Amino acid sequence: MSLNDAIQILAEVSDSPKKSVEKACEKDGKRAVGWVEPYAPEEIIYAAGCIPIGLWGGPAQLKNARIYLPVFACSIMQSVMEYEANGTYDVLSAVLIPGICDTLKDFGQKWKGKCPAIPFAHPQNRRLDCANTYLVSEYEMIRSKLEKCLGVTITDEQLQDSIVFYNGYRAAMREFTDVAESHLDVITPKIRHQIVKAGYFMDKKYYKPLVEEITRELRKLPDGKYDGKKVVVSGLTLEPNKLLDIFSGFGLAVVADDLAHESRQFRTDVPYMKSPMSALAKQWQNQTGCSLAFDPYKSRVKKLVEMVRAKNADGLVLALMKFCDPEEFDVPIIMDACKEAGIPLSVIEIDQQDEGLEQVKTRLQAFAESL
Ligand code: SF4
Repeated sequence: MSLNDAIQILAEVSDSPKKSVEKACEKDGKRAVGWVEPYAPEEIIYAAGCIPIGLWGGPAQLKNARIYLPVFACSIMQSVMEYEANGTYDVLSAVLIPGICDTLKDFGQKWKGKCPAIPFAHPQNRRLDCANTYLVSEYEMIRSKLEKCLGVTITDEQLQDSIVFYNGYRAAMREFTDVAESHLDVITPKIRHQIVKAGYFMDKKYYKPLVEEITRELRKLPDGKYDGKKVVVSGLTLEPNKLLDIFSGFGLAVVADDLAHESRQFRTDVPYMKSPMSALAKQWQNQTGCSLAFDPYKSRVKKLVEMVRAKNADGLVLALMKFCDPEEFDVPIIMDACKEAGIPLSVIEIDQQDEGLEQVKTRLQAFAESL
């Protein structure tokens, strides 16, 4: 398969999520189980013989969401609520909802979709041994509720296989993003995003080989020349495609990311341990550099400065999800650190309900010209 064909397949999946999920389910007769951003143990869903589907909102005209959520609830959850209420998620057989922030704690009790919701909590004092014990009990609860509502048995052996498979997928994604940074002429911000996003709407059994194919084909090319500016991007999500086209329009290429929707999903492997549930819980304990994983030392800030330097980037773009408190808390600290390190920074707001991107466009234009 050619590089362009593989990219095209993933771009189509990424741009038509509902159709792609239905197709994925039809292909092997599997059921789809959703999980609400930012983190959930996909491995348990996969071990149940289902396709995990990431729910990260999307463009939506709000009608029903306003009945259930206050106007100051974050932009992603407004869209997720709208999709639940208008039947977009009816294809799902169950949905996992992490109570990782204040919005999600409420949200787990407000699910309006047809399928059962399984709210669960991540412990925030992650370094303690009891955090592992607690999270194992939460994951065991997920296993037993999934077994009940799907009518399946999820064995430890299936979980171990799922962990091995998912670690392989994560390695493939890291390899792709590493290779992509030498081919910024081919892997534009939009294409990079589409390739990663497609993984949320496909069985990873079929998704991983396509990503590996892209990486292989990229390796065959000579290193691409890129005359524009390179940026690192951070935040929860960086979309829609129109926004990524604005990056390209101003000659900004994404050389690396620290997005919850992208690299934060695959930069931490699950360690191999005798108990698969302990291993999955350990992965959460090992997560670093994320606004949603409590860290009194804010290692995310140091990591960002190091990432910009290591990737030889010209600056940092912080994509701030509208009304996402955990992300907002980090902004002043990141601003101070960038100022001290002499790193140009631009903060743009992501609002899934607002299709007008003129303000962001002006901001990115000014940023690109200042670099
Ligand atoms: S506040 Fe932030 S982390 Fe919480 S649901 Fe909204 S976007 Fe996600």
